[in-house]
Amino acid sequence: MRYAILSDIHGNLEALRAVLADARDRVDAFLCLGDIVGYGADPEACIELVAEHCQMVVGGNHEQAVAGRIDLNWFNPYARAAAEWTHDRLDDDQRAWLGSLPLVSEVGDATLVHASPAYPEEWEYLVSAEDGFAAFGAFTTRLCFVGHSHLPGMWVQGSWGRGHEAGDVKVAIDPGGRYIINVGSVGQPRDHDPRAAYALWDAEARTLAIRRVTYDLDAARAKIVAAGLPRFLADRLAAGR
Ligand code: ZN
Repeated sequence: MRYAILSDIHGNLEALRAVLADARDRVDAFLCLGDIVGYGADPEACIELVAEHCQMVVGGNHEQAVAGRIDLNWFNPYARAAAEWTHDRLDDDQRAWLGSLPLVSEVGDATLVHASPAYPEEWEYLVSAEDGFAAFGAFTTRLCFVGHSHLPGMWVQGSWGRGHEAGDVKVAIDPGGRYIINVGSVGQPRDHDPRAAYALWDAEARTLAIRRVTYDLDAARAKIVAAGLPRFLADRLAAGR
């Protein structure tokens, strides 16, 4: 099976459409690591497309916030404004669906989780080398796919030692290794590259790669401004941070 793994779409329909189009002929199935909504202006359409395309979806902190399961005082002012706006845009069924998503799941030899496999409900960020190495004990599969930081990267651990690489990684999976892969963000990249990011995983060929896709950034930005969402959320898309 060949999978496309998408995370942190954040209501950015233009970015999501571009990623789906890019991946369509490359994969057999889509997986989603959460934060479908929040920040962007098209939460309903993004929920619809994810529900239609993805074989498995785990929930992120923005799903939990919109479903009323996280105290919004934990969010920064921009995230809070976006969560409140998104909550009001969605109907009861959509909010209930977001709240029903599991926080952890397994597909084949991979664990899927939005933030960290250790205490997924605490929304810890895996960023440094040590953050990732400490998480290997919290899952049993060979691979673990995460999002949340919006920063693509990889941690690997094997009999030969361990390693950490930030950025758009491309790897041949070593049969003796275990891997944590941050797939980056479809709808709000923060690694100074504004292009949408997602991961391709070929389970038979044992390859993993982050792909970057250009999309209609100006349209996504204009919709955020027109919706009355904080202007910062539009500006950061162009800066990719
Ligand atoms: Zn996010």
